[in-house]
Amino acid sequence: MVKGDNINDIIDHKLFSEDDIHEMCVRLGAQLTKDYAGKRPLVVGALKGAIYFLTDLTRQMDVAHQLDFLDVSSYGDGFESTGKIKVVTDLAADVKDRDVLIIEDIVDTGLTLKFMKDLIKKRGAKSVKCCAMLNKEARRNVDVDVDYFGSKVGNEFVVGYGLDFLNMYRNLPYVGVLKPEVIQKYMNK
Ligand code: 5GP
Repeated sequence: MVKGDNINDIIDHKLFSEDDIHEMCVRLGAQLTKDYAGKRPLVVGALKGAIYFLTDLTRQMDVAHQLDFLDVSSYGDGFESTGKIKVVTDLAADVKDRDVLIIEDIVDTGLTLKFMKDLIKKRGAKSVKCCAMLNKEARRNVDVDVDYFGSKVGNEFVVGYGLDFLNMYRNLPYVGVLKPEVIQKYMNK
């Protein structure tokens, strides 16, 4: 039986533990500290999924930076990208002449990241790069660079550490694969 409201009941298996994710943040934070030294970047969190990774990653970056958020929608409440992307909540900051670092939870087809990079470039940013926790490289169908990432991941639907299913389960402290019966339960409604 799937209770569904208890997050410990919904995971089939773990892919990345809290320690794995901490190691990613330490490694990427050290790299970003080097690459952004003296640049005072604008760090842009892609809402909502990236916030958990962002707060841990930026605390490993010894670089003065400013923070902003961008919410673009590409997915409905399901698994597949609709292909249509729109800005839901725009940046507050002016990106002109700024070094912008987008933080993403996961890059899948690449459509969302390409949309965000193009938007920020069009507004006159000096540089636009992305650091993603996870990279579903094999699913890419547009040409976009994921400049930094924590780990590659296969073609599985993952949740936790910011990644959602129907806007739930973001608060799992690790990344895992949902039990098929959880998906069934909600898909049959
Ligand atoms: P893309 O535009 O690259 O296809 O999709 C990017 C967005 O799709 C991510 O920011 C994330 O919100 C969602 N997404 C892609 N793959 C997964 C996944 O395995 N699990 C979850 N929870 N969301 C995903």
